[in-house]
Amino acid sequence: MTSRDFDLFTIGAGSGGVRASRISASTGARVAVAEERYLGGTCVNVGCIPKKLLVYASHYREDFEDAASGYGWTIGERRFDWPTLIANKDREIERLNGIYARLLDAAGVKRIEGRARVVDPHTVEVDGRRHTADNILVAVGGWPTLPAIPGIEHAITSNEAFHLKEMPERVIVVGGGYIAVEFAGIFHGLGASVHQLYRGPLFLRGFDDDVRTRLAEEIRKKGVDLRFDSSVSRIEKTDAGLFAELEDGSTLEADAILYATGRTPLSGDLGLAAAGVELDERGAIVVDEYSRSSVPSIWAIGDVTDRIQLTPVAIHEAMCLAATLFEDAPTAPDHENVASTVFSQPPVGSVGLTEAQARERFGEVDIYRSTFRALKHTLTENDERTMMKLIVDPQSDRVIGCHMVGPDAGEIIQGLAIAIKCRATKAQFDATMGIHPTAAEEFVTMREKVE
Ligand code: NDP
Repeated sequence: MTSRDFDLFTIGAGSGGVRASRISASTGARVAVAEERYLGGTCVNVGCIPKKLLVYASHYREDFEDAASGYGWTIGERRFDWPTLIANKDREIERLNGIYARLLDAAGVKRIEGRARVVDPHTVEVDGRRHTADNILVAVGGWPTLPAIPGIEHAITSNEAFHLKEMPERVIVVGGGYIAVEFAGIFHGLGASVHQLYRGPLFLRGFDDDVRTRLAEEIRKKGVDLRFDSSVSRIEKTDAGLFAELEDGSTLEADAILYATGRTPLSGDLGLAAAGVELDERGAIVVDEYSRSSVPSIWAIGDVTDRIQLTPVAIHEAMCLAATLFEDAPTAPDHENVASTVFSQPPVGSVGLTEAQARERFGEVDIYRSTFRALKHTLTENDERTMMKLIVDPQSDRVIGCHMVGPDAGEIIQGLAIAIKCRATKAQFDATMGIHPTAAEEFVTMREKVE
């Protein structure tokens, strides 16, 4: 034990910071965590959890229509009340905030409210009070970034979208990543007229091309005005709402313009550079494979390191860090084959390589792909189509990529992610009995190579 106040001082009580603090404290370490905003960070307060609740809410419209068009239901008057949804969502988030506080307290972690700054490699200051620690962990996450165009102050980000007083009837969503696609689906499902504008030729850059094109088609079929090669040059507030001028000279009107144009690490104004911590050009803390910064006593995990911006990744990095620092077991986080889902409508699930990545890495690859109308929709008027794809290395027969666009994609891909992690072969997929009738069984019954 040293003469310093704590063994670990964590800045930021989001998914990564809370987990690292709790697990470290459970080994007997003396731990404090400082948080200036809300317990649980982005995921709990303005990210994954409230987003998924809004996705559920927005899907009812299509479910009602499917039930009425094919399954014999007569649906009465339908009305959606945004304030009720937001109030119920807020209540749930408050409950989760309480759980996070209790978890930290039960683990013996000292909670400190306020903004922390690093004073030197072993000292943190919060509201004028200094705390010393053997190790400092920076887990402050990221924040939405917006391009500097005239009138951008009238736009909102996902942070504000969760707290709008009224549901906007006309929405422009700018961006083509996870958040843009998810919110376009949410507002469309809740009844708004939605334009989604993406600056490039095809959204969801980094995802498999078949996923991108299938999803674009499905989103358009549902009625979102999805435009590619399209950018806003100027926003103006008028009596009729918000007016957006696009780079092609056309105009759109809306009640809300949501920018989902990426998130940057929140590393500014923390005293990091002065303490000698190296940051990259985006402000991300540069860390080694064990999450250690250029200053040996300062560590960083989660979105502030800009490795993979996903909650389970931050939690994994946290677990590894606790093992490295307090369990005498230096553990490097494993960032290979991280599965993820875009909660678009329909959702996307992916694990492993895209076809383009696989061809680059392996040269020749075998592609299995199936596009079909789910059994449920044989009785409805919904012509949504599901797409599933497997990418196989012919040399080893290993399945190196699994991709899906369709209902429950996240639930299905989670299971397949275990198979990919276990380096399963196509022969093993084929030897697996399908569960009939499900959509997921298609993943074990695709026999014909398409390429
Ligand atoms: P992303 O990085 O996923 O997407 C940003 C989008 O904005 C891209 O389409 C990008 O285009 C576009 N863009 C960037 N700069 C500009 C600009 N100046 N003008 C116009 N468009 C621009 O960020 P998100 O904000 O959607 O989400 C941040 C991260 O949070 C994600 O990467 C993901 O890791 C995580 N997340 C995960 C979720 C999940 O797991 N379901 C849900 C939500 C977020 P281009 O491709 O051309 O660069």
